[in-house]
Amino acid sequence: MVSSPAHLAHDGLVEVMGGRAVPCFERPERITAIEAALADTSSYRLLPPSAHGLAPITAVHESALVELLEQVWADSVASGATDGAAPLIPDTFLVGPMAAGGYRGSGTAAPARLGAYCLDTATPIVAGTYAAARAAVDVALTAADLVLDGEELGYALCRPPGHHAAREMYGGYCFFNNAAIVAESLVLKGARRVAILDVDYHHGNGTQQIFWERGDVLYISLHADPARAFPYFSGHADEVGAGAGKGFNHNIPLAARTDIQAYAAALERACAIVDDFAPDAPLIVSLGFDTFERDPIADLALTTEDYARVGSIIAGLGRPTVLIQEGGYAIDAIGANAVSLLSGFGR
Ligand SMILES: [Zn+2]
Repeated sequence: MVSSPAHLAHDGLVEVMGGRAVPCFERPERITAIEAALADTSSYRLLPPSAHGLAPITAVHESALVELLEQVWADSVASGATDGAAPLIPDTFLVGPMAAGGYRGSGTAAPARLGAYCLDTATPIVAGTYAAARAAVDVALTAADLVLDGEELGYALCRPPGHHAAREMYGGYCFFNNAAIVAESLVLKGARRVAILDVDYHHGNGTQQIFWERGDVLYISLHADPARAFPYFSGHADEVGAGAGKGFNHNIPLAARTDIQAYAAALERACAIVDDFAPDAPLIVSLGFDTFERDPIADLALTTEDYARVGSIIAGLGRPTVLIQEGGYAIDAIGANAVSLLSGFGR
């Protein structure tokens, strides 16, 4: 498994949810809890990431987004837009009529810059955010390197997560789309068919958007029905891709309180689609543990024991696999859930 301490400095303090400022659910303890649980089993090597530079990121994201994330904190401190303690959270958004004619905003004030690129009020930026997001990409790419070098399984303990980040949009706790960056890097290395299986509780709207018109990258996601769950505006079953990508985007929305029986059936369907696609590169899994029965912001019903079955179904594909950590907010259980899932891979 690969991890970087850089994420510790991305400690966002608060998010605005349901009209209230609450402590961030997406917090450093999510990853340190997994590290501790895996260390206790003493069968895992914890490796640092190697630097991969900006090129894999700008292969997927607009450079304007990268520049915003790199500069907005320092600019805001310099201009007095933040006192250096409060996180940057947009309060004015570029939506609908405001975006008519492709207007992207020319404002230089932090609220304008944030509102032109962010989708929600849950994704604060602080001093350590950009370095953490860059490190998460390196963690993901390093785990992929391990698998390309012959490991059957690589586990990237990415934080911040990535699957809500689109080509020029961040949000949903995500800044750079770690899984999409790995997928594109595999294509650039010569792969012709790359599959991303997303088992996070939420729909990976960013991954879907990035590969919407691509037939060489399959995206298939099991997630809470967007009729009731974030990100609300994407993740419906009739979103199937467009152009060359038509038929290569699959969404499987799930009902509230879905348990392992129904979940396993849906996952087996998804795995059959992956098998038919016949990837010629390692399988990428966007791995969320917010499908857990006690997750504080979700409503599915998987137990700690159930993750072993989730792992074994994915392992049953018999493919080299890169696990990319996405969500999961029940910090007291996330470590045990990770251990259980890996046991399904025979670890
Ligand atoms: Zn999630």
